Amino acid sequence: MKALLGLFILMQIFIATNAQRVCGTEIYTQKLFAANPVIKNAWNNAEVQIASTTKAATGFAARDTAANEIIYIPLVIHIVYNKVIENISDAQIQSQLAALNNDYSYSNIDKINIPAAFASLAADTRIRFCLAQIDPQGKKTSGIVRKYTVKDYFSPEDGMKISAQGGDEAWDSKRYLNIWVCNMASRTLGYSSLPGGLANVDGVVIAYDVFGSGEHVRAPFNKGRTATHEIGHWLGLKHIWGDAICGTDLVEDTPTQQYYNYGSPTFPHVTNCSPNSNGDMFMNFMDFTNDGCMNMFTIGQKQRMRALFAKGNLRNSFLLSFACDSTLAQGSALPAVDTIAVLSNKPLPQNTGLKVYPNPTQAGVNIEYIGTLNNISKTVSIFNVVGNCVYTGKLTKEKAYVNMANLSKGIYIIQIKEGSNRLTAKIIKE
Ligand SMILES: [Zn+2]
Repeated sequence: MKALLGLFILMQIFIATNAQRVCGTEIYTQKLFAANPVIKNAWNNAEVQIASTTKAATGFAARDTAANEIIYIPLVIHIVYNKVIENISDAQIQSQLAALNNDYSYSNIDKINIPAAFASLAADTRIRFCLAQIDPQGKKTSGIVRKYTVKDYFSPEDGMKISAQGGDEAWDSKRYLNIWVCNMASRTLGYSSLPGGLANVDGVVIAYDVFGSGEHVRAPFNKGRTATHEIGHWLGLKHIWGDAICGTDLVEDTPTQQYYNYGSPTFPHVTNCSPNSNGDMFMNFMDFTNDGCMNMFTIGQKQRMRALFAKGNLRNSFLLSFACDSTLAQGSALPAVDTIAVLSNKPLPQNTGLKVYPNPTQAGVNIEYIGTLNNISKTVSIFNVVGNCVYTGKLTKEKAYVNMANLSKGIYIIQIKEGSNRLTAKIIKE
């Protein structure tokens, strides 16, 4: 059976074309289990717990979060970029947030495409997402971290989550869903850790060119469904075909299907393990179809996801995470720091933006751009560590100098902004 599963996974890799969805979660999970039998056992036990809770919630002997309680998940988006194009805009991030909330609340406009045979099974999960409003230190935040990396791309092996490997560290994964957005190797669109995995790498990873919706992301993965799918894994869902031929996803109301579907199939797609003439639920977010084809979670999937938040279960800590509520934050928001603005005495990457030097400084800093960008008509602001803006001005020359002589010693964040685009760097005043 194991050999069969391995063959199946290999088939997925080799059959995939550029326009076919590739999710790295199953391979990642199998590697993790092989390296950490303890996690495998913990997950198997959790499976029992989820299964029993799920049955309970669907009418056998209930235990869930409060009925219809909306569960809020604060997101922190780590933009780990090498090229300027990978440093996606705040608007692109907002489009992803909107897509997630539409999909998880069954407010997606394309739900009208769900075949009548399956429409009654579609669910509002009562799970919602926000960009974190409070950082782990209790301060206001945008929920977005931008970090330059020297890495051209990452494979689905967690390098983007570790500074020493060119990535950015997770925020407390008991309170935040960490999402890393970066350039992925080969055709992998994304992958997720599973509940109960290692805390420092807990979260999902999405390729920068399929994160969000609209014209800035590539078709046919341009409706934000890669994140919808991967967060489904983060919430304990399996692929709808159970990652085996005619396998099971441990959800009762998703029909058994022989294999994954891709592209945009026509209803009904019946195989020899379909339970009836309705065939596969290929429009489910946990299949491999195109973004424009998938449009639903089921009631059973909803219960399986929500079961994770029950008392004693693996995501229960999120019921005590209040990072979606900005009124509870202390102090002002600090701009996210791009380490693209590197120290002057280190080698600079090509065509990658901002250079601020010297750093540390006693008097002031020079601001220059690498490559085709320049300072002209950009705004420069300097923030102290509690988020107060202590200087702001307009840049008019290609090379600029900002005097910091009247600022006291300490750490500052310098931000260069034009419209919604901005770069930031941390500066030490001596
Ligand atoms: Zn997947």
